[in-house]
Amino acid sequence: MRFATHTLGCKLNFAETSHLQRQFSEAGHTLVDYREIADLYIINTCTVTSVAEKKCRNAIRQAISQNNAATIAVIGCFAQNDAKQIASIPGVNIILGNDKKHLLLDIIENKQGNIQDTSEPKSFQLSYSGGDRTRTFFKIQDGCDYFCTYCAIPFARGRSRSATIEETVAMAKKIAESGTREIVLTGVNTGTFGLHHGEKFVDLLRQLDTIEGILRYRISSIEPNLITDEIIDFVAQSRAFLPHFHIPLQAGSDKVLKMMHRHYDTALYANRLIHIKEVMPDACIAADVITGFNGEDDETFAQSKAFIDSLPISYLHVFPYSDRPNTAALRMDEKIAIPVRKARSLELHALSDRKRHAFIQSQMGKTHTVLWEHTCHHTPQGDTMQGWTENYIRLQRPFDEHLAGQITPFEVTDLTIVENFACED
Ligand code: SF4
Repeated sequence: MRFATHTLGCKLNFAETSHLQRQFSEAGHTLVDYREIADLYIINTCTVTSVAEKKCRNAIRQAISQNNAATIAVIGCFAQNDAKQIASIPGVNIILGNDKKHLLLDIIENKQGNIQDTSEPKSFQLSYSGGDRTRTFFKIQDGCDYFCTYCAIPFARGRSRSATIEETVAMAKKIAESGTREIVLTGVNTGTFGLHHGEKFVDLLRQLDTIEGILRYRISSIEPNLITDEIIDFVAQSRAFLPHFHIPLQAGSDKVLKMMHRHYDTALYANRLIHIKEVMPDACIAADVITGFNGEDDETFAQSKAFIDSLPISYLHVFPYSDRPNTAALRMDEKIAIPVRKARSLELHALSDRKRHAFIQSQMGKTHTVLWEHTCHHTPQGDTMQGWTENYIRLQRPFDEHLAGQITPFEVTDLTIVENFACED
């Protein structure tokens, strides 16, 4: 059977799609490009915004128009949260939420016909993304118990859960055997790893650090209240954990953080960043921010922006607030007009550009290690290769195939920096 996949959304979805691709390929099926004629199309969906949902619907329609005799399987977060809407698209055969999507191969091979299962997500599968052999996104945790008022993820992905340290380390060893050099630890609320079976995230980090073959680890994102001194100090002295952090802030105002039902205040957030910079002065720190959340009046936004500006943040991921179904924020007062949310988002994008520039300037002339990727980039100056420094600066050098997958020291200069790269975290 020829099968094709299309993935929307976060790195978890990409890791899970890769897991399915490996399962189907090992069972003898052939993966083809999504634009080709296939017998089965798998669309792994996202529900984070209404734009993401629209892209999912378009991907479903594209598959049906390419081959209306194909089996169309719609899986993941949008399927979980709005199966009714997906079932109303003629031609969709299989709808699986996040609990059952890993069973897709069994369902297809046992020819169970049209099926819809969006039971509450409770199962957990370790999975990792494919792609360039240098690094992989490794899903070690799923779900969230926090129920921030703006967030629909706990409804789509269920409560926090993970495998044990032993199982997770065993999978990481398998990844090491495949030749992958760098692992990005990924989850919905990664720092809650192990919480429900009495294990600690930091103990997982300690064991992963001992695996031969994996030369680098990054923690994709961790909540401010969960990045403890113990974790920061461990990363600073570890063999392979890199000084690169992604710590969601969401708002730089205690009033808004409270309305968001976040688990920290601005003082705690600032304290975490100060500690990181004390022990890892060259660390790269990224932060997520939502603009125009309920209650963020002009004065509060100005406060928030000043707070962000005062912190050693290297760059921002900025999102204008958007109402999501089922969330508590939907029913709150003090709504901010959509154009204001967007205008503030542009302001923070500009602030992010300034902070990124300042961070890169602070690294000029320093030598860092770079993991060189396999891809050859054809530029007017000749063939080049690219890679990330440990503190997440994208550098380039003339192409040399012997260096692909290798880590070498390299200097940050105007000539070696890759301008306008897209951050992948
Ligand atoms: S911590 Fe909050 S924002 Fe993050 S997934 Fe959980 S509920 Fe959503």
